[in-house]
Amino acid sequence: MAKIAVIPGDGIANEVVPEAVKVLDVVNEKYELGLEYETFDLGSERYLRTGEAFPEDLDGFIDDLPNRFDAALFGAGGIDHRTPEDVSAMPVLVGLRRRLDLFANVRPCRLIAPDLTPLKNKTAEDINFTVIRENTEGYEFGTAGNYRVGTEDEVEIRPEYNTYKGVKRVLEFAFNYAQQEGSTRVHMAEKGLPDGLWNRVFAEVSARYPNIEGIHTHVDTLAYMMVVSPEELQVVVGENRIGDVLSDIGGAVQGSRGLAPTGCYNPEKNFCYFEPVHGTGPDILGKGVANPMAAIMASKMLLEHLAHREAAGAIESAVRHAISQGQTTPDIGGSLSTTQVGDAIRARLSAD
Ligand code: ATP
Repeated sequence: MAKIAVIPGDGIANEVVPEAVKVLDVVNEKYELGLEYETFDLGSERYLRTGEAFPEDLDGFIDDLPNRFDAALFGAGGIDHRTPEDVSAMPVLVGLRRRLDLFANVRPCRLIAPDLTPLKNKTAEDINFTVIRENTEGYEFGTAGNYRVGTEDEVEIRPEYNTYKGVKRVLEFAFNYAQQEGSTRVHMAEKGLPDGLWNRVFAEVSARYPNIEGIHTHVDTLAYMMVVSPEELQVVVGENRIGDVLSDIGGAVQGSRGLAPTGCYNPEKNFCYFEPVHGTGPDILGKGVANPMAAIMASKMLLEHLAHREAAGAIESAVRHAISQGQTTPDIGGSLSTTQVGDAIRARLSAD
């Protein structure tokens, strides 16, 4: 019996995650999965309710999650105009990644309905790759600072922080992922020095996987390929910021950021978490139009991780069905609300 922590966080995540949980309710009962979940409001909703965004010991709460739960369904952390700028669930998101050392952020980019892609003449076979983003190092970490602020001589220093161990483990993760998925190619995207750490470790790790072609690519070339020749891509791996940007392009070629899910793993840990790739959607917050499909597909990834493959497959086909019937939010051409899309997907699951 698996236990899941549900942490919606900020902004539209509070609109889409409940839809995903209601979908889980349906499959939990239908397939007798025995899932148990507990919801924690951390971030903006909690602040609005209590004046405090977190419990006193947020780090302790995060550190304890793997002792209490098998996995988490997260929403988003970031801008939420209903609260002061410094109030957000970002510390939860960073804590999940960093304190729990969930270093591999897996972002599948699959075209789940042919009409959705803005790319001309590209099919579901062409748009079917996975971006693996390093999650605990890179541009987000390390000592940063601004000096001579307020003058024309201001200097900003934002170093990128990569360790041999960190680069090696995410590259190994990517090659192992490729092997498990039956992929034959791994593209590593970077834009550093020819003898930099990522290049050297990529050559070293790649040599250990003779059945998989390891291709070094500059990130600008890779961004171009994602739009022009996505069919050449199978598994793409890169540093934190590079993976972030590339997976958003991946979301775009799939049709909407409202469709893309992600999972964060460390194969040595018995805990991982899943979330939609999109953020807090400040411009659509409260309008009832946020697409819940990314959050619902994140719950599908969660079920796959728990080896509930049939239930996971049923969720994906219910999402595909809703899209094929035009039962969608405006971002992908429909006119339904967030809840109506959730209802349509649940109705299909119950009927199947
Ligand atoms: P982050 O920095 O956390 O990735 P962001 O500010 O870059 O977040 P989002 O919050 O994802 O970006 O929003 C980017 C755009 O995508 C916005 O116009 C937003 O409305 C749209 N968007 C994001 N999520 C959804 C969704 N679920 N449904 C519809 N539109 C969405």
